Amino acid sequence: MTSTSTPDPTPRALPVLDQDAITAVEERLAVHDVQLLCGTVVDPAGVIRAKAVPVARTGAFHVGGMGASPSWNVFCTDNAIAFRPGFGVVGDLRLRADLTALRVLEGGLAWAPTEMTTQDGTPAPVCTRGLLRRAQAGLEERGIVARVGAELEFVVTERVGHPWNAYGLGPLLDLEAFVQELLAALAAAGLPVEQVHAEYGAGQLELSLPPADPLAAADGVVLARTLAGRVARRHDLAVSFSPLPFADGAGNGAHLHLSLHRDDRPLFSGGDGPHGLTREGGAAIGGIVAGLADLIGVFSGSVLSPHRLQPGYWSGAFACWGLENREAAVRLCAATPGNPHGASVELKCIDPSANPYLAAAALLGLAADGVDRGLPLPQEVAVNPAEVPGTARLPAGQAAVLAALEASPLAERLLGPDIRTALLAVRHHERETYGDADVAGVAERFRFTWSV
Ligand code: GLU
Ligand code: MG
Repeated sequence: MTSTSTPDPTPRALPVLDQDAITAVEERLAVHDVQLLCGTVVDPAGVIRAKAVPVARTGAFHVGGMGASPSWNVFCTDNAIAFRPGFGVVGDLRLRADLTALRVLEGGLAWAPTEMTTQDGTPAPVCTRGLLRRAQAGLEERGIVARVGAELEFVVTERVGHPWNAYGLGPLLDLEAFVQELLAALAAAGLPVEQVHAEYGAGQLELSLPPADPLAAADGVVLARTLAGRVARRHDLAVSFSPLPFADGAGNGAHLHLSLHRDDRPLFSGGDGPHGLTREGGAAIGGIVAGLADLIGVFSGSVLSPHRLQPGYWSGAFACWGLENREAAVRLCAATPGNPHGASVELKCIDPSANPYLAAAALLGLAADGVDRGLPLPQEVAVNPAEVPGTARLPAGQAAVLAALEASPLAERLLGPDIRTALLAVRHHERETYGDADVAGVAERFRFTWSV
């Protein structure tokens, strides 16, 4: 998409540079040996938050943007989330980097401000940089040119008590050397990431890997975890891929995005159903949603998993689906200009204690089961499922999770008896040995179990 081929329907949106201009920026970054581009947004509380991409993704950061929940705008200074209508767990905004304002910083880093748009590219009314852009343009339309000079006062002090701002730029820079080295290691191993950011929990990072065929995707998880552990060692750090690294902290998810095609045509877009779903795409979602309760022991089966799979943790604790619904187990990410990979469904009720091969196989199996049975698309949940009485909660507690797996003919069919027997055996051992123990102790005991 370029400004030459697509007329901009919203004149005051951040203009889309043409490909030549984007290439010129990329060349400038290459000349300066920049590896990572951080794009910032300042939220209403005044906190600077960020998403970052490897430089190869500079154009994607500018044109389509990187995703952000509308609730980013109501993150509080203490990381509480002051939910309001329209600023909840449903919906998706795009952060688009303004490459005309990009600066090359020393040390392999570049910075650019971002603006928030909706997925179709319309400026988001909540975007403060967009508001200023319009205010400036408004004066210019009146023939008036404004100039503003800012003063910065600040105190220089010892580095103690630095907070972990969720999705903040500060936390990302605290870990900059580690992040830069990890991204370089991943790229060198042929696994360039799509984006990286400081997640909600203290010390928590998120890497997004590009879509690949399922085997390569599961291999990629293993390789990425291997490199994360290896680079961490060099920095005298450690990385936890536990569902609950610290009892009082945020959970780690291991979400999987699934897209499906038939004859090169996507099943989750371009159809007649809601949000462009095709009949088969709807059936696949039907199969996934219908089978989640049976298979949750594959996706979130460890003794720590139930402590993460809770309402309010964006972990998908409800067996339902919804467009851009971060509390639904199945979040539909529709094909929009802001989502160049096209439509996918994101399985959220999965954590890193799951075997990635087994989890991906189970996910594919559920989708295939829905297609084979021609299941109808289930009713969409368009709000926080906790607010909809009767929305099915996934089995809560490891005993219930394992009982569901044990009783399920579907699980036996999709996994085969050997895998199911072995999985149940190890998870029952966990439950019997640690299930009644204090959560803080269990979190500590298994903090690095799923790490390399
Ligand atoms: N950390 C959350 C989880 O456990 C996910 C947060 C997010 O949706 O970005 O799945
Ligand atoms: Mg996340």
